Amino acid sequence: MRLIGMLGDVVKSLFAKSATQNYPYKKKDVPERYHGRLDYDATKCTGCMMCVRDCPTETIKIEIVDRKTKQFFMTYNIGECVYCKQCVYNCRFDALHMTNKMWESASDQRETFQLYFGKQEYIDAFLEKRAAESTPATEG
Ligand code: SF4
Ligand code: SF4
Repeated sequence: MRLIGMLGDVVKSLFAKSATQNYPYKKKDVPERYHGRLDYDATKCTGCMMCVRDCPTETIKIEIVDRKTKQFFMTYNIGECVYCKQCVYNCRFDALHMTNKMWESASDQRETFQLYFGKQEYIDAFLEKRAAESTPATEG
């Protein structure tokens, strides 16, 4: 009797719709409230550094261009972020949000994970300065 029951299950499962998903070839929509990549609004930022202070992975950094005129931009490494949302809770100026973007963070290029938010001219100047600092001075 048990064998017949088992055979019935086998036959049934042969024609049943698969429960598994054909990922990554077919992707489902990401839920609206999913905690993925951070978003930063430089126009709301005051440079208080509360987000930086409590980030457990020290991955979020607010770079100061001009504190007087409130000019800031943010560097953020999504590969180091643990999506704890602590920075968002700490920000009293609504400048940080978690989005449902970039939740599939896989790459063989380390640079892919380093993100910059804010005015492009500030970011470009920052990257240029950093590149110049890391280039060894030539003698002669
Ligand atoms: S979500 Fe957590 S780990 Fe990611 S930047 Fe914010 S505080 Fe840091
Ligand atoms: S906590 Fe908010 S306002 Fe303060 S530095 Fe971070 S993003 Fe800017």
